[in-house]
Amino acid sequence: MAITKIAEIAKLCADCGTCQSACPVYQVELTEPNSPRGKVNLAKALADGRLEPNARNRSLLYQCLVCGGCEHACPQGVEFTRMMIEQRNRAAGGRSIPWLKKAALFLYQGFILRRVLWLPRLLARTPLKRKLSLPALERAGLKKIRGGDPEKEHDVLLFPGCVFTYFYPRKTVEIKALLEGLGFSVLYPEGLQCCGFPYLSQGWGEKFAKLKEKNEAVFRRFRFRQIVVPCSTGALAFKKYYDLPGIEILTLNEFLFKKAADTAIDAEFGAGLPGPFTYHDPCHDLHSLRLQQEARHFLERFGERFRNDDSGLCCGFGGIFKVGFPSTSRKILAKRTSRLNELGVTAVVTSCPGCYMQLKENLDLPVYFFSDLFEK
Ligand code: SF4
Ligand code: SF4
Repeated sequence: MAITKIAEIAKLCADCGTCQSACPVYQVELTEPNSPRGKVNLAKALADGRLEPNARNRSLLYQCLVCGGCEHACPQGVEFTRMMIEQRNRAAGGRSIPWLKKAALFLYQGFILRRVLWLPRLLARTPLKRKLSLPALERAGLKKIRGGDPEKEHDVLLFPGCVFTYFYPRKTVEIKALLEGLGFSVLYPEGLQCCGFPYLSQGWGEKFAKLKEKNEAVFRRFRFRQIVVPCSTGALAFKKYYDLPGIEILTLNEFLFKKAADTAIDAEFGAGLPGPFTYHDPCHDLHSLRLQQEARHFLERFGERFRNDDSGLCCGFGGIFKVGFPSTSRKILAKRTSRLNELGVTAVVTSCPGCYMQLKENLDLPVYFFSDLFEK
């Protein structure tokens, strides 16, 4: 995107401040430069040359989870996410991303995990465990469920995403089994890469383009109607930043809502908990994909066991935001935790692998994934 386009987007801002209350960073830091409006004004100043990029304003550009909350709230239609991604690409271009962030990007993508399995185990014994929210590694035999027939038309290509591939592979196995149990033919091919959004959102457009090319090459080898992504960030990446004409992209909750709305919940799930549970809305579900009722269609069947929370509070994960801004991330998580305490719930369900990892590794409550709600 040309700098003039960034300026055009930023120009729409009327300085009204409506976005402030929707921003998890502003809600805990309470300073104007950290607010979405402050960042739009920074983008304007960088675009028209009133400011030169420097360490301070680069840091402000990164102190944002790219959660889409401000964009959802903005009455002027400021395309904040697009503007921020482009601004970061101009400011960083992949070269000035701090080494710890780069290391985290590689870790989350699993590039290292596939080759150096001892590394995350070693890191999990250091203070970095909390910093990176590293879970204990599971073994789940993904090789056994990988594959698909290029000659056959499948209903679904399952794209589990990095967190479920490398950190919680059992969830990938369970989700595939759930979809197949509902009668869908599911393709889970070899060769899938990270969707690339963590790179794109950090301003590393070249790396994103390479991953996109590799994923699209895998997609071209098979025939399928839908891609199911049990990760709202991955679904957002495919919908907004890939070229996949004729293919429907759906998150898991959206897919079940649209294609299998009668899917039986597991009544034992609610009954087995000591008290009520709630649902944590992933930011990209809520703000970018506008999915709120889809999960609740199933959750409400648990009756009084389900306690609704429409606060939309962020968990503070934001991909590698947690690594770059640990203090802000902790404050956002504390706000989220305090709301859960107010609700008096005994468990949390979510439908984003990133939120799942952040909540599971940091809360004292049991945390479940959306797919756990259904009969196995
Ligand atoms: S994308 Fe999210 S974190 Fe970033 S400015 Fe907007 S509301 Fe705040
Ligand atoms: S809500 Fe939109 S128009 Fe208002 S300050 Fe925020 S970005 Fe600008």
